[in-house]
Amino acid sequence: MKRIALFVVAAVPGVVTAQQAPGFRQGVDYRIEARLDEAAQMLRARARLRYTNNSPRRLDTIYVHQHLNAFRPNSAWARRELEFDNRRFQDLGPDDHAFERFVRITVNGSAVQAVYPGAPDSTVAAIPLPRPLAPGTAVDVVMDWEARPSTTARRQGREGRHYDFAQWYPRIAVYDTGGWQTQPLLPQGEFFGEFASYDVTLDVATDQVIGATGVPVAGDPGWEAVPGAAPGDLFYLRGAYAERPAASVGFLEASPEAGRKRVRWRAEDVHHFAWSADPEFRHEGGRLRDIAVHVLYRDGSLEWDLGVVVRRTIRSLAWLESVFGRYPYPQLTILQRIESGGTEFPMLVMNGGSSQGLVMHEVAHQYAHGIFASNEWRDAWLDEGFASFLSGWFVEQHGNDAVWRSSLSQVAGMPEDLLATPVATPAADFPTFQAYGAMSYSKGSVFFYMLRELIGEEAFRQGLRTYYERHALSHVTEQNLRRSLEAAAGTDLGWFFQQWLHTTASLDFAVDSVTAEQQGDGRWRVRFAVTREGDGWMPVTVRVGDQVRRLEGREARQVVEVFTAERPLEVVVDPMDQVLETDKSNNKKAVM
Ligand SMILES: [Zn+2]
Repeated sequence: MKRIALFVVAAVPGVVTAQQAPGFRQGVDYRIEARLDEAAQMLRARARLRYTNNSPRRLDTIYVHQHLNAFRPNSAWARRELEFDNRRFQDLGPDDHAFERFVRITVNGSAVQAVYPGAPDSTVAAIPLPRPLAPGTAVDVVMDWEARPSTTARRQGREGRHYDFAQWYPRIAVYDTGGWQTQPLLPQGEFFGEFASYDVTLDVATDQVIGATGVPVAGDPGWEAVPGAAPGDLFYLRGAYAERPAASVGFLEASPEAGRKRVRWRAEDVHHFAWSADPEFRHEGGRLRDIAVHVLYRDGSLEWDLGVVVRRTIRSLAWLESVFGRYPYPQLTILQRIESGGTEFPMLVMNGGSSQGLVMHEVAHQYAHGIFASNEWRDAWLDEGFASFLSGWFVEQHGNDAVWRSSLSQVAGMPEDLLATPVATPAADFPTFQAYGAMSYSKGSVFFYMLRELIGEEAFRQGLRTYYERHALSHVTEQNLRRSLEAAAGTDLGWFFQQWLHTTASLDFAVDSVTAEQQGDGRWRVRFAVTREGDGWMPVTVRVGDQVRRLEGREARQVVEVFTAERPLEVVVDPMDQVLETDKSNNKKAVM
């Protein structure tokens, strides 16, 4: 649909801003042809990666990730798990472990060999360039490879004829002002990816049903028309992108063999391309304006059917648009994967469950990770904490106002070892997976909540819209978020980011020494002290009867005097649960 194409170009100011911002964005264009051979349990493929060096430096190597190689013995992932007595990938046999291995690589027609700087881990591959790549020039890297997910599912996997190809292709690493951003794939922290355009042709058995990043511009993904769906272009959105000839990379024969079919997908401005296939997938579709929503679940999954996940997805996406701005992609697919939990990819979510909470969290990642492409190895909180916060906010707005009180008490009640590492710690440096989760998700979420309460919801919303306008479809940092919120709040927030993200500072307010005396004019003079323990600080609200005060002082003990019309029953510090404290039980004192 032309309307969609126009919208994508014109209505996302962030696209233009990101490209004009200081720094640079490398040009990455993939054309991939892949054939899934189910009898051999093997995907064979060829990619032509056209890489344009928009940086001011000459490059003599390019780096790609082969993430599937994490799910096999002796990978950095498997060795990290061994430290915690988890042998699930270390002991996987030759028929069961995942792999992704090169068959042949050429650079501008010359054969080259990949090098594995982290061997025996092979999730990061270096491809030497025969001639350095000068600024402003492009190189064609043609890669033939074979790949297979593992039978033990973890963010990818296979089971019978179901394949979760969350990872499957040599995925270009990010090259930015800090150089090549490479890290072996580890249990802690997921991804950091370069924006790219994808043109992917998948050759699969005729009865396979596919969900993927992007839109199926040609071929039948196997979605049966559901009652009420409009047929043709609107549903498949085959015209979502401007026409581009289907140039072959010479891997697939002219036409598919008997019993097989091809589906060609395209996606733009995405930093990952993922897909799943299962002949048992049932398809349900819906729409949010011109955005197609696809839901794929295995036949008989009653908690997914009758449009329930379609509605949950649309509700989540519409709410997120109301917070940030328009979703910039033509479609969103939620599919049922082998493993429980969920993993986010641009335009695609692989979920083990169908609950509104899980759908919301993963759809939130369409923004906090897909559109705001943070470096999850370095700043996991910036997408996981953010997505968790957005889920909580969504729940709060749908009637559960106890959500933040329980989040605060959950974090406050964590064992000390989980709280001993700052939130903004590189994912791989957390001592345990539990500590990583506790800080990146739970305390990260509370960080966003406290920030909203600190600057007020109106400024917070304005700040998030600014963040979207400035940084949609680009790599984002803590600094980008902070500057956007500071612009809206009109105040410096450096101390707040520093304290809650970069230290383990704790804080505990308490009330004591409460006295109340009636005055000659009938009013009550209430005096009390608010004490603060711990090395953290926050402005805090106190409520005395119908009076509310905000205390901005930094003294460890502040004496406060409040006049009230009636004799108040109690003095309460932080009555609206806006601050993370170690102990909330001492926040209240009765007026004797
Ligand atoms: Zn998440």
